[in-house]
Amino acid sequence: MVEKEEIELITKKVSIILLLTVILIIFVSCSSNKTDTVKTNIVKFGVISDIHGDTTNLNFFVNEFKKEDADAIIILGDTNYIFENVRGNSDYEEMYYVLKTILTDFKKPVFVIPGNHEPKEEYITLKGNLKKEFPEQKFLLFDDTQRVITFKNVMLISVSGYHLKEYMHPLGGFLFNESLFDELEMSMGVYDAVSEFNENKEGKIKSKMLVAHGPPKGKNKNSIDAVFSGENVGNEMINIFMKKNDIKFGIFGHIHEAGMKGVDENDELVEENIWSDSLFVNPGSATKWKMNSGKESKGSAGILEVDIKEGKARYLIITAK
Ligand SMILES: [Zn+2]
Repeated sequence: MVEKEEIELITKKVSIILLLTVILIIFVSCSSNKTDTVKTNIVKFGVISDIHGDTTNLNFFVNEFKKEDADAIIILGDTNYIFENVRGNSDYEEMYYVLKTILTDFKKPVFVIPGNHEPKEEYITLKGNLKKEFPEQKFLLFDDTQRVITFKNVMLISVSGYHLKEYMHPLGGFLFNESLFDELEMSMGVYDAVSEFNENKEGKIKSKMLVAHGPPKGKNKNSIDAVFSGENVGNEMINIFMKKNDIKFGIFGHIHEAGMKGVDENDELVEENIWSDSLFVNPGSATKWKMNSGKESKGSAGILEVDIKEGKARYLIITAK
């Protein structure tokens, strides 16, 4: 009898353990489904601009992007210093060290546009050489031949270079005029549906984001294109193009002193962490700079999240220590 009772007790214990295991499995699978659903709607970008050869700050920001679990990094141009080998490196070497630092450390997609500092020929050579050095990695250096891609249902529309000749690299850079925007519209049609970077092709809702070195034209001294004098130096062609093509989101650099903030399409300031129907962000320069506020920035970068289902975006500024 004692034996029978013991067996019954063991059977009961085993049943309870089994039941608890089943409940635990159901709970875990439900909660991970929930996380997946949330994650597929949100695309998170690490955004960094005007690195100017500062690989110390760059390492810090890449690390922060990894901690934030960013889906991709976007570089907004001016990877090299000021048209000469001030720091002992050539322009090519500086562009190379910067991009190598990122590609070595960050194993998710990386997108790059040239600013006004990158010499065109060397940038194209570097693009080819990096493809050979990192054959397994998903990355793209945008140029005149590749301008639009779709990444996780966010269409990235790139504006390589700058529109003012006096700021271009003396060896010749990516100088553009109005005709670029006609070509961009054509590219948007061609690359609308498919891209090697799009891991979420079935989703129909898509957000468009402009990726440009120089900002659109702002309306006041608090905007993302205001220089020390208070003048708005942004490019009106960008405003017109974004409006015409219903592009609600954009990331821009170049005007270091006006960085570390975001505005909406009406040029009203948007606070960090607030979801907005339209959002233009200037993350500031990755290397130190004196800001319009009078304060010195030790360097900054941004996190930009796009909710592709709701068609909203929000941002966060990260500052170097
Ligand atoms: Zn620039």
